[in-house]
Amino acid sequence: MRTPAGKECTYFFGDYYRGRNIEKCNLIGDEKPPRSWKADLCKTCPVPGILLANGCDKMTLAGEVKPGILGIGRKVNVTAYCTKVHSQVENPYIGCGHCHGSVAFTIGDER
Ligand code: SF4
Repeated sequence: MRTPAGKECTYFFGDYYRGRNIEKCNLIGDEKPPRSWKADLCKTCPVPGILLANGCDKMTLAGEVKPGILGIGRKVNVTAYCTKVHSQVENPYIGCGHCHGSVAFTIGDER
């Protein structure tokens, strides 16, 4: 579903039917302040970019709101875990590298 920030995110839920205005993030859930979710966090959240870059179904994401100082600089912190090799994923944009190795190719060398 498209977030209020205009990016596709599978964790976002919005219900605007018949005047409703229900929005929630299923990655963060119902945390208490100062770690509660608000839609403005979607603007800087890395999750839509991660989902676009890496579609591995073995990688799971976990997220929490980092409160910042006096509420300034609130952001979503994301960690990734590979359920196949059972380890943390250092770079969720790339993945752990176990299943999907890198592909090397050369452009402009057609003979
Ligand atoms: S905060 Fe991030 S994970 Fe949650 S709905 Fe917004 S973009 Fe998706």
